[in-house]
Amino acid sequence: MHHENSFNDSSSAMTQADILIVDDIPENIRLLSGILDAKGYQTRKATNGETALRAIEAMLPSLVLLDIRMPKMSGYEVCRRLKSNPKTTHIPVIFLSAADEIADKVEAFGVGGADYITKPFHVEEVLARVHHQLTILAAQQTIWQLNTQLEARVKERTHQLELANSKLSEMAFCDPLTQLPNRAFLMQRLQNVLNQPEQQNLQNAVLYLDCDRFKTVNDSLGHQAGDELLIAISQRLKSVLRQVDLLVRLGGDEFVILLSDLPDAVSATDTAERILNSFTSPFYLREREFFVSFSIGIVSSCSTYKEPEDLLRDADTAMYQAKAAGKDCYQIFEISMYEAVCQRLQLETDLRKALRQQELSLFYQPIVDLATETVVGLEALVRWHHPTLGLVPPDQFIPIAEETGMILKLGLWVLEAACRQLVVWQTQGMVDADFFVSVNVSAYQFAQRDFIEQLDRVLTETQMNPYCLKLEITETVIMQNFVSAAEVIHQLRERAIQLSIDDFGTGYSSLSYLHSFPVDYLKIDRSFTQRLHREKSSLSLVTAIIQIAQTMGIQIVAEGIETSDQLAQLKLLGCRYGQGFFFSKPLPVNQIIDFLSPEAYQIK
Ligand code: C2E
Ligand code: CA
Ligand code: CA
Repeated sequence: MHHENSFNDSSSAMTQADILIVDDIPENIRLLSGILDAKGYQTRKATNGETALRAIEAMLPSLVLLDIRMPKMSGYEVCRRLKSNPKTTHIPVIFLSAADEIADKVEAFGVGGADYITKPFHVEEVLARVHHQLTILAAQQTIWQLNTQLEARVKERTHQLELANSKLSEMAFCDPLTQLPNRAFLMQRLQNVLNQPEQQNLQNAVLYLDCDRFKTVNDSLGHQAGDELLIAISQRLKSVLRQVDLLVRLGGDEFVILLSDLPDAVSATDTAERILNSFTSPFYLREREFFVSFSIGIVSSCSTYKEPEDLLRDADTAMYQAKAAGKDCYQIFEISMYEAVCQRLQLETDLRKALRQQELSLFYQPIVDLATETVVGLEALVRWHHPTLGLVPPDQFIPIAEETGMILKLGLWVLEAACRQLVVWQTQGMVDADFFVSVNVSAYQFAQRDFIEQLDRVLTETQMNPYCLKLEITETVIMQNFVSAAEVIHQLRERAIQLSIDDFGTGYSSLSYLHSFPVDYLKIDRSFTQRLHREKSSLSLVTAIIQIAQTMGIQIVAEGIETSDQLAQLKLLGCRYGQGFFFSKPLPVNQIIDFLSPEAYQIK
């Protein structure tokens, strides 16, 4: 509905109106044009139908005054033609006729005439009717113009809406930081890929990447620098990939790569290697160098998958294996990994129940004075009697308890149970006043704000003599948080609770902190005890540790003594205390009491 070509501006429609007068009698034409010209209208003239149509064709008039009765072509015919032509149909036609007859008028309107003037002409009437038609015309033009403007505006709005929409969906599928596609996009693409025939999917692989040290950078430099690094990382990743490969940022420092149409099975690991290699050179950020590496999990073929979620889960599982294998490497997913994850999850669920349903118990292992071979104390070691799996070793469930936070409850239970037990033995007179129990304390327990309060509560409730309690912590506890560790250790000393450093030699193996953190015992890790015979280095290290400890007034407990040779050697080195299968395995309460009876005090 565009009439821009046919119409001028509506305001000028009246004054600049171009009126075509068609009549076969020149006298009539002269009369009419005289009236109209005097009023400032433009007029053109035609004396028959054909010239009228040609004139109209040449330039569209605003209005036609059309005589009905003309030779050859009647006014009706001219009007009919005008109305049937889309270019001219809108031009108003006022018929002129001497015959003031009803029939004429009816036919005139029938063929599309707008009005009717009868001869002889009256000036006022002609002007009134012309003016009337031109007013209608102007009004129509205004409407058409508004309409056109409206249409243009609607079009513009629609366009803007479409832009906004596509921007929105772009945003829904795009990671704003790196401009890479995001998880939602990946899931769609994966779904498409998995819908392909299985054969084709043999050649598709997924790489799940997790940055190894990103958190350190982020924490030390701040988020903005972290963001810059992420952008740089994504660009480097992109640079080692082919055009067809899809690189996606899942969020944080995690990326996924979908490799398509791989030529052969090794290509996925090739890509992984290319990525690892490309990250051996540093990033430069804020005038500093940063090394970043990746742990990569690979699902080397998509052919067995139906759900994108499953595929990603397995790639993620493989990535975790890569982390566990020391980071900066890749692992290919194997079904056994999935089974291990499930098993772990099952253990986690079971462990929650275990805490409630009292499936945990304490075993005790004697700690022996090597010179006299008398039992001076016991280490409490937690055991889990799983309803179907039987005895689950602590190495398997303590890490789970730590990761899930269950260690806090578990540790408190151990502490309480060990204290309660010792008090029982004390009141039964089975042990003397110096006899101690040694309890393992996890770093997570130690880091609790109210750890000392918990301890105090346990000591009060069990009426345990704090001096008979030893806590075993690892070096990490101290190294990870110097300040708060110092405070807790200070509190422990005030209560005369003794402290052992467990597994000494496996962690930081630094004696330097012992100046600031007074401890009572160092427990030399069993791996050293067991290498004493075979390795000179172990021997010299243990010798050194014992000597330094002695000058600092710290007692040594050697763990894992299994043979009389080891025992003899440790005695020779001046090690005072020891623990190990040579004396006894950890035993349940009913068996450990054999070691407590005065006769058994002396082990051999
Ligand atoms: P750990 O504190 O180093 O405990 C000593 C471990 O060495 C015990 O293993 C003990 O059975 C084992 N062992 C003792 N003598 C010998 C020996 O002569 N040869 C060998 N090969 N091994 C010996 P267990 O009871 O399986 O405990 C393993 C680890 O689990 C403990 O290592 C400790 O880190 C942790 N753990 C055990 N109970 C608790 C607990 O109640 N709380 C916390 N937080 N951790 C615990
Ligand atoms: Ca221990
Ligand atoms: Ca130990």
